[in-house]
Amino acid sequence: MVLDSDDLILSAKSLGFSRLGVVALDAKDSLHEEMVHFKDWLDAGYGGEMGYLARHQELRANPKGLFAKPANCCRAIVVTMDYLPTTAHPGWRDYDTSALEQPDRAVISVYAQGRDYHKILRRRLVSLARLLSEQAGHADTVYQFRACVDSAPVLEIALAQRCGLGWRGKHTLLLNREQGSMFFLGVLLTDMPISEIRHEPILPESPQGHCGTCRQCISVCPTQAFVAPYQLDARRCISYLTIEHSGAIPVPLRGLMGNRVYGCDDCQQACPWNRFARVATVQDFEVRNGLDQAQLIELFSWSETEFAHRHQGSAILRIGYLQWLRNIAVAIGNSLARPDCPRSLREDLLAALATRADCESEMLREHIHWAIAQANVRT
Ligand code: SF4
Ligand code: SF4
Repeated sequence: MVLDSDDLILSAKSLGFSRLGVVALDAKDSLHEEMVHFKDWLDAGYGGEMGYLARHQELRANPKGLFAKPANCCRAIVVTMDYLPTTAHPGWRDYDTSALEQPDRAVISVYAQGRDYHKILRRRLVSLARLLSEQAGHADTVYQFRACVDSAPVLEIALAQRCGLGWRGKHTLLLNREQGSMFFLGVLLTDMPISEIRHEPILPESPQGHCGTCRQCISVCPTQAFVAPYQLDARRCISYLTIEHSGAIPVPLRGLMGNRVYGCDDCQQACPWNRFARVATVQDFEVRNGLDQAQLIELFSWSETEFAHRHQGSAILRIGYLQWLRNIAVAIGNSLARPDCPRSLREDLLAALATRADCESEMLREHIHWAIAQANVRT
């Protein structure tokens, strides 16, 4: 059974996906080269606490093993979904940079200002699988599908590159000339023998794609998290520190985090290709709770119940209340250290910290006391 490629692309677009590619993964070692790079990265310790990345390496190399039953073939259907909210466009790159300069503001990564992309993409990938099964129409063959959105050991970027959906930029994310990098990636694995859909390959003779001599993402990184182009030490990355890392944030890195309380967009904002970043066609990625205008003091005042209520359906909920407060405490400390922090704001920020200075969590208390001390460490 070979399904018509145009039908498949149309079906994907009707579900809100912007682009789609299909690649065959039948050879056991088809992802060998990418696995070597991935293992080297893990062995260097750059994955930090993300120990789960080291698990299931065999499956990562051979996604066929992810099916519940033995499969004769394996296709990876790779989709992209744009996520810029309408309020962030046009000019989102300048807009967010200005928020980093305001000591009262809390900056939240653009992708997290709307609903949790895991659920949105997963649900739509399952719908795509249903459509494919219906179109195949074979009563005697039941095809297997597995929807993966950061949920299974799958090398999403490598698969997307194979489909010609972009190149891995020096900031390690996938980007392309039509969308920049502000999109989510989803993968639908299937043993349905559909035809490959490969877009124009990105400079096959050069793995560097269209980064050329540009190094803007590397130079702009506040924590100097890139050990080399295409190589990120996640342990220094603000996205990792605010989202993946659950313990105390290393003191030498705190002062470099500014007022970013969840994630960091700096390397993507700096990327010239993100002039072409597109607005989401899916309503779910519109900003919720005014998170594009968030104030440090207000966020720090939320009770645990309010945190759970406001972030219901958001990826932010996953980090938990303590980590949320920890991140905001560091951001408040950094605002207190700024020479341009107005006196009245300084007093309000210190008062906010004081409300939780005796909290039960030792980890949070230590961050709050560090933040209070920053009022005397003007930068
Ligand atoms: S997300 Fe921010 S901290 Fe992480 S690598 Fe990019 S610029 Fe650096
Ligand atoms: S900022 Fe420059 S080097 Fe970095 S990903 Fe974009 S084009 Fe490539």
